[in-house]
Amino acid sequence: MNPGMENLKKECLLCRRCALGGTRTNVVFGVGKEDAEVMFVGEGPGEQEDLRGEPFVGRAGQLLDKLLACVDLERNTNIYIANIVKCRPPQNRDPLPAEQETCIAWLMEQIRLIDPKIIVCLGRIAAQRFIGADYKISARHGEFIETDGRIVTATFHPAAVLRNPLIKPDTFEDFIALREKIRQVCTRTYP
Ligand code: SF4
Repeated sequence: MNPGMENLKKECLLCRRCALGGTRTNVVFGVGKEDAEVMFVGEGPGEQEDLRGEPFVGRAGQLLDKLLACVDLERNTNIYIANIVKCRPPQNRDPLPAEQETCIAWLMEQIRLIDPKIIVCLGRIAAQRFIGADYKISARHGEFIETDGRIVTATFHPAAVLRNPLIKPDTFEDFIALREKIRQVCTRTYP
């Protein structure tokens, strides 16, 4: 781990800046390649993630890994995965705006250190943070937007795909489009 990221993780693991720090089992900092050109951002840890301290490791995470594998991406090889809030909201509720506001400084520092070319928002909450408060994921998923020198896109959260398999084909198409975009703008992601 590079020293900047290592220090950031050490600090983050001790964080109690919001109430979620009082109910978590583990801080879920993030995982992956620390100079990845592509970064995936979800909203927050669920039960399995809280227990294991790693993002996207429950059923939704297994689906995410399959979608990633379809386009030659893998969490420990060529991408980084993190969440907007690092501690699990109770009963898997959405993270409150105040919790997101408090926690997002950790994510922003991760993004600064990793410096990805492409950010992929997984689900509405991440997309509304990174693209715009009025973002409608059902209408705009798969769009690529340039903002602050990076390309940002969004697709459905894998947990939403598990709840509604009808959106699986659209999600798969978003990953295929992502592969094309990576080929256009990234130089190190695919060998
Ligand atoms: S959710 Fe974020 S801000 Fe709140 S305690 Fe956890 S790491 Fe700190």
